[in-house]
Amino acid sequence: MTQTFTYNAAPARILFGAGRAAECAHELRRLQCKRALILSTPSQQPLAAQIAQQLGELYGGSFNEAVMHTPVAVTEKALAYLLAQQCDSIIALGGGSTIGLGKALALRTDLPQLVLPTTYAGSEVTAILGETDQGIKTTQRSPRILPEVVIYDVNLSLTLPPDLSATSGMNALAHAVEALYAKDANPIISLMAAEGIRALAASLPQVVSQPRDLAARSQAQYGAWLCGTCLGAVGMALHHKICHVLGGSFDLPHAATHTIMLPHVLAYNAHAAPEAMRTIAAALGNADAVSGMVALTQRLQTPLALRDIGMPQDGIARAAALVMQDSYWNPRPLEQQAITAMLTRAWAGAAPSH
Ligand code: NAD
Repeated sequence: MTQTFTYNAAPARILFGAGRAAECAHELRRLQCKRALILSTPSQQPLAAQIAQQLGELYGGSFNEAVMHTPVAVTEKALAYLLAQQCDSIIALGGGSTIGLGKALALRTDLPQLVLPTTYAGSEVTAILGETDQGIKTTQRSPRILPEVVIYDVNLSLTLPPDLSATSGMNALAHAVEALYAKDANPIISLMAAEGIRALAASLPQVVSQPRDLAARSQAQYGAWLCGTCLGAVGMALHHKICHVLGGSFDLPHAATHTIMLPHVLAYNAHAAPEAMRTIAAALGNADAVSGMVALTQRLQTPLALRDIGMPQDGIARAAALVMQDSYWNPRPLEQQAITAMLTRAWAGAAPSH
């Protein structure tokens, strides 16, 4: 059989390695920037101050109020500050929430972004932005959103607590899993997906038990980069749709929701995507993709039931109905009854089933 595919590569400049955060100033000069705005959450403000110090005259100001879901009101406050400080570039230091704020500013100003990721969510290598306005989260793509430079410095990830390390790593893994059975899958992205799953599955248990293990942290960051690249390159399916619904309409925590749902959605899709399942199983070092994913989540000691992260039982039917609306393409057609049954199992923390 002959292959048919379309391959689109997004531009990327990746600096990977311990201590490379020290190259921020050099990268800004490469981009011909003179005044950088540094973004962080309130809790990562001390780290942002360290970066500010090493920028010297290239430092243009700090905005440390990034929060989850990129609310437009916070973006507008940051934008007013950026303009008042006459900044010509953006440094986002943090996880998907801080990176989201940087992307929202870049969308509005077209300023270059330098990102220092400190979680494993993978947002730094996608041209995708989710924003919230008056309680409604919408997602858009634009070349302006894609960061110009990403610096993966493992030293910045050492303080990420074990539970967040595990769930944000599983969030990354979900990008690679869905890339393998995407409608627009292609052989290059599938190679990255398999390697990303392998790297994260091999490193996350060690990261959780030894959070300061540099080699494990570095391998997890490498996996997160590959998985994020998959998210940016091909379309996502049922798993991402479900997590979007559960996060958007029930306010469940993003990364924990991904972690709980992934084995269930794998089971739902198993018979419809046998080749992807073989690749996932091999990358997990297990004979079966679903059992391998269940075993990994058990080792990571993350929550296994939606009811433990705030999902109301009487919301299951509404969630299933929302999943059916504007649905994403999926290898197995969406069946509302089967999705309700899957959500019920995930709610109770029961074993995944086909
Ligand atoms: P996050 O950015 O919300 O961070 C969670 C918390 O951990 C924050 O309080 C943060 O300050 C803290 N933290 C982050 N790194 C730390 C570190 N190294 N040490 C100590 N504390 C640290 O978490 P996340 O899971 O990275 O991001 C979730 C958000 O990202 C969601 O809104 C999601 O929609 C978005 N996301 C977007 C994309 C995309 O491509 N657009 C991809 C993945 C996730």
